[in-house]
Amino acid sequence: MDFTIPEEITAIGDALIKFIDREVTVLEDANRELLSSERNMFKPDGRYTDELLALKRQVRMRSAELGFYTLFGPQQIGGEGLGALAATTLQEQLNAHCGPERALVQSVVLPSPFTNGLSPVFTSMDPQVFERYRERLASGDKTSCFCLSEPDAGSDVYAIKTVAERDGDDWVITGTKQWITNSPYADYAMVFAITDKELARKRQGGITGFFVDTRTEGFNVPSVIPLMGHLGYDIGIVTLDGVRVRDDHRLGALNKGLSVALNGVNIGRLSLAGTCIGLARWALEQATEYAKTRITFGRPIAEQQAVQFMLADCAVDIYAAKSMTQNCAWRVDQGMSSTKEVAMVKIFGTEMLGRVMDRCMQVHGGMGLTNELRLEAGYRLARLFRIPDGTSEILRRTVASRLLDGDELA
Ligand SMILES: Cc1cc2nc3c(=O)[nH]c(=O)nc-3n(C[C@H](O)[C@H](O)[C@H](O)COP(=O)(O)OP(=O)(O)OC[C@H]3O[C@@H](n4cnc5c(N)ncnc54)[C@H](O)[C@@H]3O)c2cc1C
Repeated sequence: MDFTIPEEITAIGDALIKFIDREVTVLEDANRELLSSERNMFKPDGRYTDELLALKRQVRMRSAELGFYTLFGPQQIGGEGLGALAATTLQEQLNAHCGPERALVQSVVLPSPFTNGLSPVFTSMDPQVFERYRERLASGDKTSCFCLSEPDAGSDVYAIKTVAERDGDDWVITGTKQWITNSPYADYAMVFAITDKELARKRQGGITGFFVDTRTEGFNVPSVIPLMGHLGYDIGIVTLDGVRVRDDHRLGALNKGLSVALNGVNIGRLSLAGTCIGLARWALEQATEYAKTRITFGRPIAEQQAVQFMLADCAVDIYAAKSMTQNCAWRVDQGMSSTKEVAMVKIFGTEMLGRVMDRCMQVHGGMGLTNELRLEAGYRLARLFRIPDGTSEILRRTVASRLLDGDELA
């Protein structure tokens, strides 16, 4: 097997890092006061301040101008259509270079294929209707959110209670969505609702997706949910109180919304694995350097076998995660069926990052716990990654059920 990264992907990665260094970092430096404290980044209700939103938009639109923003958008709706290997490679490179939680970098340069830009979900929309929105989304001027989860329905999507009822040419949607990334700021929403209770009860369909303008009467985001040590976040609760949407704004066929919702799930999970590998590399590099310079008992701690083993275990973990991620990305790009393998990669990548961050903090002693080095930010992120986009348990369930059905190991 040859896993040499094609030159075209390497060139995009180099250009991306140049963009970060020459433009995004400069913008961050010029806005240091705003970005250095969450008290400036969030309003008291947990929403981003207008200043921060304006900066994010600026980077997003510049990124679109330079062609990065739509790299993973499907070609049929005007994206570059880059595949899984490109997604994992670029995410790794970006995160190894930037580390965790740089507000202007993380979410806007290579957006999640689900929540921003040219989401693969939009390939299910009537092309003529989507054309009215395409440019606004592709340019980064407008953003969207993906509303599937609810207070009583996360892993178990068939438990959703939001309903859409037909009324002439319209559908009327009522319900509550929870954990919706970017919902406090989104201009458009992909909303999934029950359109046939009987089919949904039998778990045979009955859920349909709709493209909703978030300014529509009845669409509200009453609160955001701050997560793990943050004063706010980009996750919100969405209430839909008789929201009207035209039938031509349906996402795909009636009652087939779950397959529409899963469009792009492989690339999304593999991108996340690439992010984990990049962040783990970033942390190990810091720990290795620190071990060489930190002196205890008259010698650098790098000379202590206990510390060497922590560094070595990180390297083993990263190498394993990278090898399986690249192999899986290659499988996905070849069009091979890879549901089980993608699940394994998401489980291993996110859990690997938790182990690596933990060891790298330990190598740093008390310094590892300070906010200054951002290792703790990486640690929190690693913890968070095990929940969205399929929890570790639900993915293990996928792997096990495939094995029990006779699926072989790759
Ligand atoms: C940061 C973040 C961003 C998110 N963004 C979005 C978004 O943009 N749009 C969206 O629609 N949703 C989003 N979500 C929701 C996310 O998809 C759900 O949180 C996730 O699917 C888990 O659902 P839950 O939280 O309801 O947990 P539950 O489903 O209630 O699970 C609770 C626990 O039980 C375990 N469990 C449940 N069922 C089983 C089972 N059958 N076997 C074994 N273990 C089981 C789970 O693994 C978990 O440990 C986001 C969540 C987070 C944290």
